[in-house]
Amino acid sequence: MPVISSKKPYRVGRSRTGLGLFATKPIRKGDKIIRYFGPLLDSRNKKDDAVENKYLFELNGRWTIDGSIRANTARYINHACRPNSESDVNTRKKKIMIRALKNIEPGEEISYDYGTDYFKAYLKPIGCKCVTCEKKRKKKRAEARAERLRLKAKAERKALKEAEKAAARKTVNPKRGQQLNGKKPGHAKLLNGQGGTTARRPLAAAKSKLASRPKAKPGREARTTSSRP
Ligand SMILES: [Zn+2]
Repeated sequence: MPVISSKKPYRVGRSRTGLGLFATKPIRKGDKIIRYFGPLLDSRNKKDDAVENKYLFELNGRWTIDGSIRANTARYINHACRPNSESDVNTRKKKIMIRALKNIEPGEEISYDYGTDYFKAYLKPIGCKCVTCEKKRKKKRAEARAERLRLKAKAERKALKEAEKAAARKTVNPKRGQQLNGKKPGHAKLLNGQGGTTARRPLAAAKSKLASRPKAKPGREARTTSSRP
């Protein structure tokens, strides 16, 4: 990280998206903050044209500034969809100056709009993390949450209504319910009673038949023995 002179109205610091540039002194609207600089790349030069990184700043169809060098502190400035600064491009001098669009207080993060091409290529696929977009996302999430709660409440009301309807149906025909409840134990009693008697009777008959035979046997034996003498 480059050593920043205390004379300068900014410092590199932690931002939500990694590092960022923050005001250390009040910056007035229109003030020059920092120059965005680096090697000049000529698109007509094959080697230059092959350079690819996130810090390329296109000046025009031919010239691009490669701001990826360490000394270019302005490369720490993050993009914002509603920034407090802008990139002031002088195509003739091939120079870029970051300038305040509004008064910036110490501690505020310095930002500028990277432009549509950069936004489409790098920010849109991952989702822009600037304050404005985060706020939008937060609002959308809150709206989605509210919608989920509304649907849940609706479903609960519907379920309650159906439960009430079902309860009302039961109270309209109370006899039916009692008869059903009364029949069951009565039927069971009958079954137990009938089953008991019908099952016991033949058993008892069989038992008496079985019991009568041995009784008869000794009777006959007794008769034969008694008849012998
Ligand atoms: Zn944004």
